[in-house]
Amino acid sequence: MDYTKPLPLVTDLNRPHWEGARRREFLVQQCASCGHRWFPPLPNCNRCLSTDYRWTPVKGTGKVYSFIVYYQAWLEGFKQELPYNVALIELDEGLRVVNNVVGVGSDELRIGMPVRVAYDEVSPEVVIPRFVPADT
Ligand code: ZN
Repeated sequence: MDYTKPLPLVTDLNRPHWEGARRREFLVQQCASCGHRWFPPLPNCNRCLSTDYRWTPVKGTGKVYSFIVYYQAWLEGFKQELPYNVALIELDEGLRVVNNVVGVGSDELRIGMPVRVAYDEVSPEVVIPRFVPADT
């Protein structure tokens, strides 16, 4: 089946993250000055504003910090998945990332639920990190 959702827009800034996903690594930026980690990609540290950063892998485990459930598809490609969630995941390293928790019904999703990253190969070139319950 063709993938009908929007694909990531790969830029010079975020390319290391998407290349890491193809290797099944979840890479985030880490400040070389203060050690802060963040995702999504930014050109500078959002704590100390340094532009000196490196890409570093995180374990890809964490817990659901918050979430919302969509009952309306704003994009055609999401219609078949209604209702679906958009979740704020707090990674074990402390940073929070926006993603989806798949493999669990929206009525079963809970704040504090342990989750882990899972890689969704949507095409031979594109692998999108998503999250699943940690015990699956
Ligand atoms: Zn910093």
